[in-house]
Amino acid sequence: MHAIVVTTPGGSSALEYTEVPDPVPGPDDVLVDVQAIGVNFIDVYHREGRYPLPTPFVPGSEGAGTVAAVGANVTDVAVGDRVGWQGVLGGYAQKAVVPAAKVIPLPDEVSPELAAAVLLQGLTAHYLSHSTYAVNTGDDTLVHAAAGGVGLLLTQMVKLRGGRVIGTVSTEEKEKLARDAGADDVIRYEGFAGAVRELTDGRGVHVVYDGVGKATFDDSLASLRVRGMMALYGAASGAVPPVDPQRLNQGGSLFLTRPTLAHYTVTREELLARAGEVLGWVGSGALKVHISGRYPLAEAKRAHDDLEGRRTTGKLLLIP
Ligand code: NDP
Repeated sequence: MHAIVVTTPGGSSALEYTEVPDPVPGPDDVLVDVQAIGVNFIDVYHREGRYPLPTPFVPGSEGAGTVAAVGANVTDVAVGDRVGWQGVLGGYAQKAVVPAAKVIPLPDEVSPELAAAVLLQGLTAHYLSHSTYAVNTGDDTLVHAAAGGVGLLLTQMVKLRGGRVIGTVSTEEKEKLARDAGADDVIRYEGFAGAVRELTDGRGVHVVYDGVGKATFDDSLASLRVRGMMALYGAASGAVPPVDPQRLNQGGSLFLTRPTLAHYTVTREELLARAGEVLGWVGSGALKVHISGRYPLAEAKRAHDDLEGRRTTGKLLLIP
């Protein structure tokens, strides 16, 4: 089969399209003929070696397709089933091995392409808005990179819960998308803490959802109301340096958390409950998935360049 392989971590040229042996499922795994592959920022961290992995490896943490074979112990998934997954390495390939415990069955209304576009970022938006800081009606929230993959989904989910979204974006095109997704106010990054204070009558927001990291962290803390929560869930602009806990006191007895999806899909029940809700909304049209780019698998490098270059909106897919 063809796959993208990283032998030496580094820039996007580390993504090499090549022929490799088909992966072989173990007794608790399934083999999937991949139809669509989700591109995520974590793929960049893996490629760069920011989150080190043994080499060589096939990157990619999300995909969907049709089950081609099942291991001897697998009873609840069958050949021919349409499935998706996230959080399993090896997705940038024509075939992928997925532990049966990670397999998410797809409802009829959700195509493999839609599933690969929504699972990882949708589950992330779900746990951020429903669990990390469970938004209540009337809460003020700040969503950074509101026109990004997570950002557009998170904006919609905060609105589904009755919250208010102040979104940050870098361009006019992105501003329009964030507004179409339901953002109440859309601002630029420059001086955003002051703008947030103005928009909240000086109070600040209940929660900041910050996947940008280094460039926004300080102003994000400064945007919070007393006892507000800083949910730092990513580092698209770089890693945040160490933080003195005393800053949380000075900022107003603030809460700081650095959540990650794996810890919000700990059991199979939790994974299926979140995925069921997200895919249900997609199927009913309550949640819109904005796919802004489809790239041939061989052009994974171009997808990474566009993502890192802030040229993308919503979701990018690789098609094997
Ligand atoms: P996005 O589609 O949001 O792309 C990143 C966006 O971040 C850009 O489009 C850009 O939007 C903004 N940005 C701001 N500064 C920079 C910069 N210096 N370089 C690049 N982008 C920048 O990506 P994803 O939706 O895939 O991921 C968003 C974040 O969520 C990432 O940090 C990712 O690691 C994190 N994440 C965390 C998870 C978790 O469980 N902890 C799970 C999934 C994702 P603009 O131009 O408008 O500023």
